[in-house]
Amino acid sequence: MVTDLERTAALDAVRSAAALCAAAQGRLVAGETLTKGDDSPVTVADFAAQAVVVESLARRLGAIELVGEEDPADLVSDDQATLRDGVTGLVAAQLGRDVAADQVLEWIGVGDSDGSPDRYWTLDPIDGTKGFLRGDQYAIALALIEDGEVVLGVLGCPNLPNGGGTIGSIGSIFVATDDGCEAYPTGGATVGGDTPVAVRVAQPASLAEARFCESVEAGHSDHDDAAEIAERLGIVAEPYRIDSQCKYAAVARGDASIYLRLPTRPGYREKIWDHAAGKFVVERAGGVVTDVDGAPLDFRHGRRLEHNRGIVATSGRFHDQVVSVVRDVLA
Ligand code: AMP
Ligand code: MG
Repeated sequence: MVTDLERTAALDAVRSAAALCAAAQGRLVAGETLTKGDDSPVTVADFAAQAVVVESLARRLGAIELVGEEDPADLVSDDQATLRDGVTGLVAAQLGRDVAADQVLEWIGVGDSDGSPDRYWTLDPIDGTKGFLRGDQYAIALALIEDGEVVLGVLGCPNLPNGGGTIGSIGSIFVATDDGCEAYPTGGATVGGDTPVAVRVAQPASLAEARFCESVEAGHSDHDDAAEIAERLGIVAEPYRIDSQCKYAAVARGDASIYLRLPTRPGYREKIWDHAAGKFVVERAGGVVTDVDGAPLDFRHGRRLEHNRGIVATSGRFHDQVVSVVRDVLA
């Protein structure tokens, strides 16, 4: 069960982090980006966005359990002073008040849960950091997990262009609950306006008319396997390459009808924060999400999806057919 207070607190937390990231994108200077142990990039904005989400949730909801991507240990050593100051500055600017570096590190550190509690939040403060650094798409992804099931998903996509009655506006925040999926398109200056619109998947008349999305980064999803799958399915459109969980948002609102994430190496296990919010957004918009074998995503094993491989998300009707071809090609 998700309370109204939890839904509102999560939406506001993502709004705040999205505003911080949108203000920081393109303005980072030397020393504000670091390469982590797993060779992935992280910026002052990733840490600051995690701090802002925790501050916002904890202020409204009290103590929380959270599995977050970022670790304050990456910021504590003396030679990380530039990074630490940059993070503290961004958090202070977003909160509109002075804040001590130790307090910021404490907020970030709340995100170190191991994912074992019955009920916990998971956060990717900037999903698609490579896209963020390129000036492209990225997402702020926050989800609440209860007994291994996602019960609330909030996906902030500050750079995603909107259509329909909001043509010209850029950026939406998607909120998925048991009641369905809504998006808050940007209106005015802030990312994620006040007036929600219903979000529904679109069913192409046939698979030949489907469009699929995949990572920009070939190291995150196998582009060659995807091309072969598309060919076997008779899909003619070029792949829609877009960073981050914006791929889930694209399927949820009908910009595409398939998202393929195909393993690039045998041992890789997906991180829960890379999928929890996005998969619920697609499901509550009427779509289906499984791994490449057609199995449901299993969030009961800590920080990673230990028992799943890759992702197949679709608008629903052709899901089994897509999974069957994915299995053939990967076999
Ligand atoms: P995307 O923007 O869809 O390419 O995904 C970005 C996410 O890919 C990051 O948050 C990483 O956690 C994740 N990632 C890093 N390495 C891999 C990999 N080898 N396979 C799949 N995902 C990865
Ligand atoms: Mg990520």
